[in-house]
Order: sequence, then C-alpha cells, then structure tokens
Amino acid sequence: MVSVKTAWEVEKMKAAGQIAADALHLAGKSIKPGVTTAELDKIIGRYITSKGAKPSFLGYNGFPGNACISLNSKVIHGIPSKSERLRDGDIVSIDVGAYKDGFHGDTAYTFACGRISDADRKLLDETKASLMVGISKAIVGGRIGDISAAIQEHCESFGFGVVKDYVGHGVGSKLHESPEIPNFGKANRGLRLVSGMTLAIEPMINLKGDGIRVLKDGWTVVTKSGSASAHFEHTICVTEDGPLILTLPSDGLQ
Ligand code: MG
Repeated sequence: MVSVKTAWEVEKMKAAGQIAADALHLAGKSIKPGVTTAELDKIIGRYITSKGAKPSFLGYNGFPGNACISLNSKVIHGIPSKSERLRDGDIVSIDVGAYKDGFHGDTAYTFACGRISDADRKLLDETKASLMVGISKAIVGGRIGDISAAIQEHCESFGFGVVKDYVGHGVGSKLHESPEIPNFGKANRGLRLVSGMTLAIEPMINLKGDGIRVLKDGWTVVTKSGSASAHFEHTICVTEDGPLILTLPSDGLQ
C-alpha cells in the first residue's frame, strides 16, 4: 500500500529532510585526511539531536551508527569506526536519516577526500547527475519505471555498473515504505505516480560491474570487483508542480 501525504505531512517531512541534509553536509565539511568515520558519525548524531530529531538509522534492525559511512569500494551500510581513518584520495559515501514529528527524511551524498582520481570524480559527478535525471521523472502521471530507466540509462552510458540488489523506496512515517524504486528498469512500467507520494530515490553506482557482496559484519555492502562505488539520495515529493526535493541543505551548507 503506497501512502499519499497531505500538504501538512509534506511540510513535516521537509523539516525532517532539512535536518538530515544539514547533518550530512556539516559532516561533509569535516572530511579531510586523518579524520575517522566515527568522528563524522558523531558530528551527524550531535547535529540531529540538537534539532530535537532522532537519527533514523541508529538502532534500525540493530544498526550501531547514527549514519552509514561507506568508503571507496563500500557501496552502502558502512559502519562508522574509530579505527577507520580517511586518506587523501578516498571517496566517502554518507547516508543520513532524521526522524522528527513522526516523519523521516533520508538523504545521501558521496564526498571526495582531498584529491581523487579522474575516474572516481567522473563516477561521483555522473551518479549525482543520474539522481537529478531520475528525480526529473517523478511527475504526476509518470511511472516508477520512468525513474528507474532514466537512472540506468544515464549510468550505463558511461559504462558504470548499476547495483540491482538494493533499491530506493517510499518514505514517510516509516523509513522504508512502498513502493520500491529500482535504479534499473523499463520506462512506462510500474506504479503510476500521483501527487503526494514521497519517495527516496537513491542510485548506488559502481565504477566496474554491478556485483556486490556483504561483509561478515552483516551490514557493509562492497563491490565484488573492488572498484569504487558512489551513492546519492534525495527524498522527494511528487506534486502537481513537479518534483519537490525535501532534503535540500540550508544555504551555505552545500
Ligand atoms: Mg534510503
């Protein structure tokens, strides 16, 4: 069952979404060689709680961090650690959820630490672009498959691998709601989009191949090839006036 939100509920999601986005980009500003992923996680947890919200991921199915932080070949669900220090040339995917007044906002961004390779830069730029292309298809009367196909076509045109095992999702009073939003598929297929649907669109794109595996910690998803992976995500609302992004950071933070 796909829930449709009222204007009042969308306002609450926008508030939660902005807290998540500000926490994400605040952590992004602290990225430099030598910083641990646990330190970034602490910045995120502190900011979210200072706004009277809760980190959505903390304790979710037992997840131990405030945010998921995934370096280089880690795709998603990386666990922040005191022993994991950033190095020049790393790419750092951070996924943040904030829960406030009964609603979640969910957003992710892959940052560069220092100077990264040209190949990694292109992966980041085009994964980010694919998110915006996907969002542009989230219009009244369109279909979920339009979003999926647009992301897949964009990323595969550069030879990147689109992760198939994890997908975007509806979001609202629950962190994960229906429908699923794959980053691959066919246009003009799937659920018809209506005004008030709130969706977390989140391409997870590998430099080489679409294969993934899960590490022994039961959480961390890595690329099978060992290549880098990027992850960008926004929570959006389908409206009569077009897609509305609910996870934009405050001015000056992005
Ligand atoms: Mg998500």
